[in-house]
This record gives sequence, structure tokens and C-alpha cells, in this order.
Amino acid sequence: MTSMGERAFHRPVLCEEAVRFLAPGEGKTIVDGTVGLGGHAEAILRADPGVRLIGIDRDEDALAIAADRLAPFGDRVRLIYGNYRDIGRLLDEIGIGKVDGVLLDLGVSSFQLNEPERGFSFREDGPLDMRMDRSQRPTAAEWLAAASLEEIVDALRRFGEERYALRIARALVAERRRRPIATTGELRRIVHRAVPARYFAQPIDPATRTFQAIRIAVNRELENLSDGLSASFERLTLGGVLVVISFHSLEDRIVKRFLREKAEPCTCPPDIPECQCGKRVEVRILTRKPIVPSAAEIEENPRARSAKLRAGEKVV
Ligand code: SAH
Repeated sequence: MTSMGERAFHRPVLCEEAVRFLAPGEGKTIVDGTVGLGGHAEAILRADPGVRLIGIDRDEDALAIAADRLAPFGDRVRLIYGNYRDIGRLLDEIGIGKVDGVLLDLGVSSFQLNEPERGFSFREDGPLDMRMDRSQRPTAAEWLAAASLEEIVDALRRFGEERYALRIARALVAERRRRPIATTGELRRIVHRAVPARYFAQPIDPATRTFQAIRIAVNRELENLSDGLSASFERLTLGGVLVVISFHSLEDRIVKRFLREKAEPCTCPPDIPECQCGKRVEVRILTRKPIVPSAAEIEENPRARSAKLRAGEKVV
């Protein structure tokens, strides 16, 4: 299951750029909050012999692969099973205070996508699971069984930006009355039957957005991101850097707003003698525009297609 071949499947996206912003150096501690298969982590550790890395992931299977891959770096690496939104508590538990950098590389790993039994992909049939952390509930099947029509429509619209949200949700609700929707193949077929024929003309499978939406809902990805950005920022030292690689516009919007808000100075009118708003510049944005992969990287690694990297430095 964890052969070299599979490991080679997941090429870290925007890796050089991420490492450059994190600037690994002697005595620094960098947290990779989504260590996955350890691609970025390895590049960070290789960049400087004096840097330490703490890798967090909520997927135990991925962590086992990362542990194997990063073993040559010995005690420069600590791996923790957990959610990056709990970074504060997780670092407390191992006695680490502030850190010099945090990297979040969002989304699913190719490892998760390529294991049919994890239920992320419709390319091969598998149980409708989609949990990144398999100790948590609900699974995608449980979520679909319990959600109201309105909740399904809302998730498809918000997390999938799916224009046929209502049609698809109605089809799902009609189907589940007959029998539970249990596999990725069934979910895909139901979506295919629900959407108009012209929807098949687009380059992506008509079920793509539905899968994305359910995955985001099941794993609470956007809540984790909003909370995780603040929690990570809290833990940075002065001059520490936050680097986030996102894979769709919903995530990128959250990251962009977070950084902009922290980069904004006091907003009081100039004639007020003393600041009332309490705002101050907390971040220096290092990426005026998000950094995107080169055509060559996308060619080599299609997963990079929609990636955007944003970075900010803590200045107070
Ligand atoms: N940078 C990694 C790949 C990361 S893929 C590499 O180069 O190998 C994204 C990873 O983030 C997945 O393994 C997923 O399980 C993990 N993940 C997603 N949300 C998470 C969260 N809230 N907390 C911890 N890990 C998370």
C-alpha cells in the first residue's frame, strides 16, 4: 500500500516557492500542518541541516508514509496525529512555544485520492467515505443519509459552486428513500442521471463538484481553515512566516481575506486624537498576488493546476 511508486505519485506543489518563503535556517522550527506524504517537509529539511520540522496530519495512513520518508532526518522531525486547527494545543503537548514558520498545503493528497477504499474518488468504485481522519464521523455516506434537502443544496452550492445543486440534491434525496447511497460509483451515477446532457460537454466529470462539496462538508474543511489560520498565526514568532497553498477559490478567498485583514492599519478617521478601532498592522503580505505554478509544473503535475500560494510575515 505504501510502495515507492505510490509515494512518487504525490509531487509537492509549488515546493521551491514554499521553501523560499519559509526560509529554513539554523535553529528554526517550522510546522507543516498538512504534512501528508512528507514532500514539502522533506524539501524543508533538506534545505538546511539546522532546521527542525513538526509535521501534523489528521490522516494516520499518510503520517505512516511521512514517518518512513522522513526517518533519515532523525530527531529533527516530530510527527503528530491531529488537526492543524488545534496547532496550539498540539504544540503545547510537546512543549513547543513559538515557531518560525507554518505551512498549510490544503486539500486531499494523491495518496487519499488513489486509494479507492478511502472513497474520495469516482474513478474507481469504493465505499462512500471521504474522511481524512478515519476516527471521526460522519462518513460521506452517513452525511448524505442524514442531511436535509436544504443542507445538501446549500453544501453543493457553497462548497461545490454547483449550478445544478437543486436537481442533484433532489435526486439524492429520492434515491436514498429507496436505499442508502453507499458507494462512490452510486453517487456518481445519481449525479449523472440528474444533470442535463449538455453538462457532459465540459472538461470535468459532472460529478466532480458534488464530490468536492461533500468532501468539504464531511471534513469541515473551511471551518478548519478559518480557525487554523488564526491558530497558526498565534504561534508564529515575530518575523515568522505563514505560507498557505490552496486549491480552489473558496479556500483562497479565506486566506486572502485573513491576510488582508491582518495587514490593514488603524481605520480611525485622521481627526481622532487616539485610535478607537484598535487595529494595527500585524502582517506584511509577501505575495501581492498569489503565486501560481508554471505551465511546466502543471504539465508535470496536473494536481497543481488550480494551486495558489499566499504568504505573510508576522510583524508585531
Ligand atoms: N504537502 C504534502 C501533501 C499534503 S496533501 C506533501 O508534500 O506530501 C493535504 C494533507 O492535509 C492530507 O494528508 C490531509 O489529510 C491533510 N489535512 C487536511 N486537512 C487537515 C487538517 N485540518 N488538519 C491536519 N491535516 C489535514
